[in-house]
Amino acid sequence: MKITVVGSGYVGLVVGTCFAESGNNVVCVDSDVSKIEALKAGKIPIYEPGLEEMVKRNVEEERLEFTTDLEGAVRRSLINFIAVGTPQGEDGSADLQHVLGVARAIGQSMDAYKVIVTKSTVPVGTAKKVREAIAQVTSHPFDVVSNPEFLKEGAALDDFLKPDRVVVGCDDPRVAEIMKELYAPFVRTGKPILVMDPASAELAKYTANAMLATRISFMNEIATICDRVGADVNRVREAVGTDSRIGMSFLFPGVGYGGSCFPKDLKALAHTARSMDYDFRLLTAVEAVNERQKAVLVEKVLDHYQGDVKGKTFAVWGLAFKPQTDDMREAPAIVVINGLLARGAKVRAFDPQAMPVAKKIFGNKIEFVHKYYDSLPGADGLVIVTEWTEFRRPDFEKMKAMMKTPVVFDGRNIFNPATLRKLGFTYYGIGVR
Ligand code: NAD
Repeated sequence: MKITVVGSGYVGLVVGTCFAESGNNVVCVDSDVSKIEALKAGKIPIYEPGLEEMVKRNVEEERLEFTTDLEGAVRRSLINFIAVGTPQGEDGSADLQHVLGVARAIGQSMDAYKVIVTKSTVPVGTAKKVREAIAQVTSHPFDVVSNPEFLKEGAALDDFLKPDRVVVGCDDPRVAEIMKELYAPFVRTGKPILVMDPASAELAKYTANAMLATRISFMNEIATICDRVGADVNRVREAVGTDSRIGMSFLFPGVGYGGSCFPKDLKALAHTARSMDYDFRLLTAVEAVNERQKAVLVEKVLDHYQGDVKGKTFAVWGLAFKPQTDDMREAPAIVVINGLLARGAKVRAFDPQAMPVAKKIFGNKIEFVHKYYDSLPGADGLVIVTEWTEFRRPDFEKMKAMMKTPVVFDGRNIFNPATLRKLGFTYYGIGVR
């Protein structure tokens, strides 16, 4: 099939590349000239495991190309995905200006029947708005489909190539058939393609993110209770996660969720509820818990040092909002580091992928090191913010010898408290004994 994907960011690039990988001819469009130039030169603007190789292979095999020419791309394609950003507006709603702008541009470019698919995360009613925006500028026939994306950064290729399900929101069974044909190579193991009305498809994406964020905040609350009553959240997690009604995923307490999706999508869902005269109280609580949780490590640091960290140096391991990505949008590390800096502490940070992004955020306010051990000499504490695999089994003896004070503030519970205490560290986790 001939496909255009407008918006070549995290989602658009992955989606376009994966469709090319399954044999389609894909044009990825972006309005950012430098991004397209970089992609044409084989430079991938984001870190996503396996993506670079897959882009290269599909470009070489002439199934994938990059352009800023939206009109030319649309004319060549039957299916046109909109995968541009839907950032948070001032009132918390999803800002649809990019989506609707692209819809109009697609409409103006059409020279025959087209299928326009919204891949961006958009509030209920957007399919209708996209349809209206296109109808205003073209007399050619078209259909609009809502096809929310559930991939996770860091495992995006796998999630897209082997999805748990594909959600297709459309009113016309003939368009549903086109979408089923497109996705057939990815659901050969029997995973479902769920066809539904556009409003349900749009709401499904927000529901999934809100549910996952709720599990995280819920476990962070349980971890706080564990800290206060002397229970161990890991034991509690095992006991409840093994219940088949609950399951193990998204039960890990930590320093709160971040990223480009959960924070803005929760706000957008709460805004949708408000616009329907409904106060979605649970969402407000989930967000409030998360905001507090981002500051929890700084609280633990301050408690340990009786409120005075002026002039002290902290090693920070992990900056990305989660492992396997360089994305720092809404990353807890920003709150943790700013909290330490605001109290006069110094920060020496390391992240395997996110340091170029972090340099744009912090400039020279913190020191960046190229190896994680280099953050430790003379440090008054180690603060773990992102659970990269390589941090899990370090040489503790070596660490202890390098640090001025062997204190670890483990925001992701990656170390065994007993092991560290035996070695002479002071250890603080999140809800662990
Ligand atoms: P992103 O910011 O990484 O990428 C968006 C891209 O769109 C940018 O490259 C930007 O230059 C381009 N763009 C903006 N306006 C344009 C225009 N008029 N014409 C052409 N290109 C334009 O965003 P993202 O993370 O890929 O997210 C895109 C959408 O997918 C959002 O709605 C997001 O909520 C949703 N989503 C994201 C993820 C994720 O993990 N990042 C997962 C699922 C869904």
